Amino acid sequence: MTKAVIAIHGGAGAISRAAMSAEKEQAFRAALHAVISAGQQILAAGGSALDAVTEAVRLLEACPLFNAGKGAVFTHQGTHELDACIMDGRTLDVGAVAGVSRIRHPILAARGVLEKSPHVLLIGAGAEAFAEAQGLEPVEPDFFSTPERWEQLQRALTLQHSVLDHDGAAAQSGAEPLDPDRKMGTVGAVACDLHGNLAAATSTGGMTNKQAGRVGDSPLPGAGCYASNETAAVSCTGTGEVFIRTLAAYDVAAQMAYGGRTLQQAAASVIHDKVQELEGSGGLIAVDSHGNVVLPFNSEGMYRGFAFVDGEIEVAIYRDN
Ligand code: ASP
Repeated sequence: MTKAVIAIHGGAGAISRAAMSAEKEQAFRAALHAVISAGQQILAAGGSALDAVTEAVRLLEACPLFNAGKGAVFTHQGTHELDACIMDGRTLDVGAVAGVSRIRHPILAARGVLEKSPHVLLIGAGAEAFAEAQGLEPVEPDFFSTPERWEQLQRALTLQHSVLDHDGAAAQSGAEPLDPDRKMGTVGAVACDLHGNLAAATSTGGMTNKQAGRVGDSPLPGAGCYASNETAAVSCTGTGEVFIRTLAAYDVAAQMAYGGRTLQQAAASVIHDKVQELEGSGGLIAVDSHGNVVLPFNSEGMYRGFAFVDGEIEVAIYRDN
């Protein structure tokens, strides 16, 4: 029988131990643990990988600690624009939404696009109208706001002004992180179910201080999210523009399919060679249909964890644990 497994991430970035209180770290670990446990139970009961990743990401969206759903970051203009994608490795069916601010659970809207629409990606007001027509819960945009994210935007705005004063080109190209914590909190899940079917899901508020209208890798199939039973299910987090340029999630699958690489080799190559070479920072989680699981990242930390159906739940934040 296949080794069913679920892995999740809560974003990668400059997660410094110094800035993390013991209570906060405990809160992150408990949240990750609870989400993995919920996914594990779905898989143990014979549920599909698609259902397991949907529920895991829905729970992560509901948790304000992470930059998806409630607790999403702010754009430069002080608004929220959320992106999500979900892909079914059995069929290569995929659904995604981008630039939405009135759907409580963007991942459920993406799932609706996958199942109920002939399209792959819906944006903005059209995506919101579609979600409401599917009976999904609408919210006012300020539902997603938290004081912590507002302060994060204010810090980013201050830093950007000082960076612009000294080095406008670097700031405009986005090459330099303006705020070390702006890249934390995108969420994702990948799973292999008891039948060997794979699925991946990714959801995010994007990057703090992003230009309104900017879309990152998270809702783009092949960039921030990809699943094929033939190769792997992948969910990414990090500098979205670089993950788009490298087609990071699909490149893991392509290196396995065309290059004969293992999941571990392919994922390491994408994060430590391809993304690194373009000065991208972040990580990914991936599983294959043999139940292999990898969680590489090139940033200081990545909120992450995984569990096999009958195994212990492993949770980690920093490089060394
Ligand atoms: N990749 C996301 C984006 O660019 C951000 C993140 O992973 O934190 O929108």
